[in-house]
Amino acid sequence: GAKARGRGAWCFFHEAMTQAARERLELESRLRLALAQGHLQMYYQPQIDIATGRIQGAEALVRWNDPQEGLISPARFIPVAETSGVIGPLGEWVVREVCRQGQQWREAGLPPLNLALNVSPRQFHLTDLAGCTAAALQASGFPAALLELEITESALAERTEEARQVLVRLRELGVRIAVDDFGTGYSSLAQLKRFPIDVLKIDQGFIRDIPQSEDDMAISAAIIAMGHSMGLSVLAEGVETEGQLAFLRERGCDSYQGYLCSRPVPADEFVALLRAQAESAATEQG
Ligand code: C2E
Ligand code: MG
Ligand code: MG
Ligand code: MG
Repeated sequence: GAKARGRGAWCFFHEAMTQAARERLELESRLRLALAQGHLQMYYQPQIDIATGRIQGAEALVRWNDPQEGLISPARFIPVAETSGVIGPLGEWVVREVCRQGQQWREAGLPPLNLALNVSPRQFHLTDLAGCTAAALQASGFPAALLELEITESALAERTEEARQVLVRLRELGVRIAVDDFGTGYSSLAQLKRFPIDVLKIDQGFIRDIPQSEDDMAISAAIIAMGHSMGLSVLAEGVETEGQLAFLRERGCDSYQGYLCSRPVPADEFVALLRAQAESAATEQG
């Protein structure tokens, strides 16, 4: 009867739940171990100044290099880190590692590079982000002016007064703030104006279908114009084609990142990209 069928369905549901919960727990403990054993690694994706065509810096993106599974995407483990609380130590490691790497590059004589890193909503609200950033800058000697923190719109939509105070403290340290995945949340102009932010990153979802989508072109152009009218710098994410870049250049977008220039790469490959660029500039000058 219906009752028996109902119970069967519930049992099935229950089992599926336990299975999912077990997998999450397993992933969580493996992630803690990976962090302790040094299996996390930062990759760097170049950010290009559209006016000059030169690499101005990079976004640092975390990778989990598992000895058995190979590279595990942050899309899979950041959500687990967020709900389990591992995001605290993981986020702290990311800030320290990026500052350490940035300072090493300076000491190696590379030109000044702006390094951006991601902060997830729970990390933003539940950890001492400003304190942790201050400590990482101090320990490494990396200048605050070269560090940028990317916060998503959704993180700013929660507990906005607290969020504003965290950003004010970061601004006092001298770091820049970027709003990541801009356009996918619900922040209004009025809300944005309350926060001390420096950069808008247009979500790659609005770039993907340029130049086919009239709507996406209108949205991107509006974000660029709005950002500039608020005195912000605007960066487009996920730029894959020359056509997309031409559109962004015409609209006055400041910078971009995307496969058109490079995928995120390990630190040594990023340095190789910089050296190749310096060489081609030298050749052009004759
Ligand atoms: P995000 O910050 O919006 O990063 C952009 C994502 O787009 C990256 O994926 C990047 O590899 C990918 N991407 C870059 N250029 C292109 C392109 O031209 N085409 C396409 N289709 N994709 C492109 P990734 O590295 O897998 O990171 C995914 C998300 O995980 C990030 O989104 C960010 O929210 C989060 N994440 C990554 N690293 C960290 C971290 O260190 N800490 C925290 N809290 N979150 C991180
Ligand atoms: Mg980002
Ligand atoms: Mg993004
Ligand atoms: Mg994203």
